[in-house]
Amino acid sequence: MSRRKPILCVDFDGVIHSYVSPWVNEVTIPDPPVPGALRWLWEATEWFDVQIYSSRSKSEAGREAMWQWMAKYSAQEFGEDHPMSLAERGGDGTIVYPIGFAHEKPAAFLTIDDRALTFEGDWSDFGESPADLLSFKPWNKRPKPAPLAPYAGADGTAVAGQGRLGVGNQDGLVANGPLLTSAQLPEPTALEIGAEVRRRGLMGSYEN
Ligand SMILES: [Mg+2]
Repeated sequence: MSRRKPILCVDFDGVIHSYVSPWVNEVTIPDPPVPGALRWLWEATEWFDVQIYSSRSKSEAGREAMWQWMAKYSAQEFGEDHPMSLAERGGDGTIVYPIGFAHEKPAAFLTIDDRALTFEGDWSDFGESPADLLSFKPWNKRPKPAPLAPYAGADGTAVAGQGRLGVGNQDGLVANGPLLTSAQLPEPTALEIGAEVRRRGLMGSYEN
């Protein structure tokens, strides 16, 4: 007898469903999956009891809609014969699917959600006031950062004046630092950060 797999609880909208269009109702799922979501979840079923739990989950119709949507897009991604493409109920009327559609929030080992913060034991991590959380935006609702000038710190060309340090990967900028004066970010610091940025395989930018 095998050990029971730990439950991985996964939110639906903004995590599996790309959720670009506005909310309609619990049975309407207008957008395609987030790229990589279906494949990741299918792989996760090897180690986890993957349970989808969403605000759509409280009605049978909402759970059915998520299941049919998953099966439809899985058929495109994995082919009609794949277990993730199954869209028909078993003989006893239950959903037969590699992933569960929980009726209520499961006691999960871990949860994946686009509107959650990981508590690390320190409430001050959440800002000076609870009101700071009002500005939270999930990943797909944040404004796209403007690209910065190419990194110029590593070869010593970071010059005096104001500068801004940005860090990105091959997909673009992922973090943009505050505007600093050269006193706050003198050249050696820019050089050190440049070296760190290159060591981590990232692209940096020092803009004057
Ligand atoms: Mg969500």
